[in-house]
Amino acid sequence: MNDYSIPFNRSSIQGRELEHIFRTMTIGQIAGNQTYSQKCHAFLEQSLQVQKAMVTTSCTHALEMSALLLDIQPGDEVIVPSFTFVSTANAFTLRGAKIIFSDIRPDTLNLDERQLEGLVSSRTKAIVPVHYAGVGCEMGVIGEIAARHGLPVVEDNAHGLFGKFRGRWLGTFGCLAAQSFHETKNITCGEGGALLINDPRLIERAEIIREKGTNRSRFFRGQVDKYSWVDIGSSYVMSDVLAAFLFAQLEMWQNIQAQRERIWKYYDQHLRDWAREHGIGQPVVPAHCEQSFHMYYLIMPSLERRQALISFLKSRGILSVFHYVPLHLSPMGMRMGGRKGAYPITEDRSDRLVRLPFYNSLNTDNQDRVIRAVQEFDA
Ligand SMILES: *Cc1c(COP(=O)(O)O)cnc(C)c1O
Repeated sequence: MNDYSIPFNRSSIQGRELEHIFRTMTIGQIAGNQTYSQKCHAFLEQSLQVQKAMVTTSCTHALEMSALLLDIQPGDEVIVPSFTFVSTANAFTLRGAKIIFSDIRPDTLNLDERQLEGLVSSRTKAIVPVHYAGVGCEMGVIGEIAARHGLPVVEDNAHGLFGKFRGRWLGTFGCLAAQSFHETKNITCGEGGALLINDPRLIERAEIIREKGTNRSRFFRGQVDKYSWVDIGSSYVMSDVLAAFLFAQLEMWQNIQAQRERIWKYYDQHLRDWAREHGIGQPVVPAHCEQSFHMYYLIMPSLERRQALISFLKSRGILSVFHYVPLHLSPMGMRMGGRKGAYPITEDRSDRLVRLPFYNSLNTDNQDRVIRAVQEFDA
């Protein structure tokens, strides 16, 4: 598909994936919500200490479920950082919400909590922080502002599984949190996600929304004698074939996290002198954040130098990538009133950030090649 000898991302078998998938076939459980989905739910609930976890078809869908659960209506306002993936905003736009963008902190690239209160209005219905690169947002301040205004917080924790903020797991701060198991994330099943529910009042309706608006889950528990259409919903249930793959990865979570920690620290140490010398930024992880080691990025001196580094690495067969196009400057964001200069830190970092190859099976030889190539680049 491409001629990169070191890709940006590559999926790998981490444990008993194939064995578990084989088992779904032999026990005849390939639809959703069966043995392996239940195993994933129990695993997430126990390891993260959340009230309820539900695997979903994607993180995008877990965010859409959140918008439905919070009864987001046309005209409601939802506060989202501009520096994030489309789904963080789109899930709420789908319900007719008006997205109020926020700028990010210059250090962690997380939603800038110092600007948050100024964005809250009488129409605000939710705050959606994103734990960028798996480094926790300032959840103390965000939680206080949310509580003062009676607003729910939904964590987009796509990057942050197994990260902590002040000793507490990311994904346990908001009433809801969305996880991603997309191929590019630390733990994956190709395409998948999970909704974590920390407010028990939302659990029963979440089951209904996830099951096409029916009370099918209650029926299977024997709590009602027939199941029918009781609310709005959609089809957000993950197949047990994918849940089997996912469970194998979850079983290996400590191994996966250890591999990623090693890769992250190796980049950080070996690029430190080069970065200092050339005025290049490395990731900032505050002491009270235990990050999830989701990605390794550099902040180049300019857009032009960033593009030059990507081209230089490409000439060495190494794929590096940038993100995010600020949502307020995307075609959709511009139609919603976005204009250049509105969120200066977002725009600046979006121009200058580059992500280096980072995946569970990246070996030291290949990582050394990336590091050497970066060091040889005339920054
Ligand atoms: C990957 C990602 C998503 C979407 O995840 P899917 O599982 O692909 O839907 C949402 N938000 C952020 C911040 C992401 O990185």
